[in-house]
Amino acid sequence: MTSRVSIVTGGGRGIGRGIANRLRADGSQVVVFERDAEAIADLQRSGDTFTALRVDVSSESDVIAAMREVTERFGRLDVLVNNAGIADPHVPDLEQLSLEHWLRILNTNLTGMFLCTKHALPLLRRAKQAAIVNVASTRALQSEPHTEAYAASKGGIVALTHALALSLGPTVRVNVVSPGWIDTSGTPESLRPIDHQQHPVGRVGTPEDVAALVAYLAGDEAGFVTGQNFVIDGGMTRKMIYAE
Ligand code: NDP
Repeated sequence: MTSRVSIVTGGGRGIGRGIANRLRADGSQVVVFERDAEAIADLQRSGDTFTALRVDVSSESDVIAAMREVTERFGRLDVLVNNAGIADPHVPDLEQLSLEHWLRILNTNLTGMFLCTKHALPLLRRAKQAAIVNVASTRALQSEPHTEAYAASKGGIVALTHALALSLGPTVRVNVVSPGWIDTSGTPESLRPIDHQQHPVGRVGTPEDVAALVAYLAGDEAGFVTGQNFVIDGGMTRKMIYAE
């Protein structure tokens, strides 16, 4: 990935930070788009060589300004990882769920991807082999009660991805990863044995698990892969659950 440039949205913490670390370790220059000032300060304190820009991905003016800065500083873009999202899936009962709350989740999780992709395109189209990797969730495929806005946003990402793959190929490949339970707490010891044991692979996932898949999809070895949804969940969505 030497001299490649990658953007990771929401890359200041959690899964996004894991992806940013991995792409940087693979030799890419990494620009993090992040809303959270504390996460940006933490990135800067880490001493790692990230470029961190304060961006709300649901704001078109923020996204346009940030893409202009990437163009001026680097003049190229090879990889866009659309990871930023409101990660808490739970919303109030439908009767109590306000339109404002619904739109906040859709605007961040889904519309933010549209905006970042749209405004990254002029740079991505200049690259020889460009890739977009979107982060959805297994909640695009299965649900708990009272998760409507999150589920809809993640299902939308899966559909947006295959539509984009058709529109942007062959120049830009577009894929989506759908993680299951990924521990971003920073305190893995707080997980219970049963949390791990219920997974067919015997453990809860880590940001590094997701980052490894994203790194593959972002790289040239995935040159024949586009428009696909990759579930990374330790096997949980393959498990039948009946009451004992
Ligand atoms: P975190 O909340 O730990 O990290 C997300 C980061 O994105 C935060 O720094 C957050 O800032 C930032 N962010 C949120 N909204 C915006 C925005 N509008 N513009 C720019 N940055 C923003 O979440 P995770 O790492 O757990 O999740 C990352 C992605 O993975 C999300 O899309 C989530 O839905 C998805 N996912 C996570 C799973 C998990 O188990 N952790 C499972 C499946 C999918 P702030 O703190 O200000 O909100």
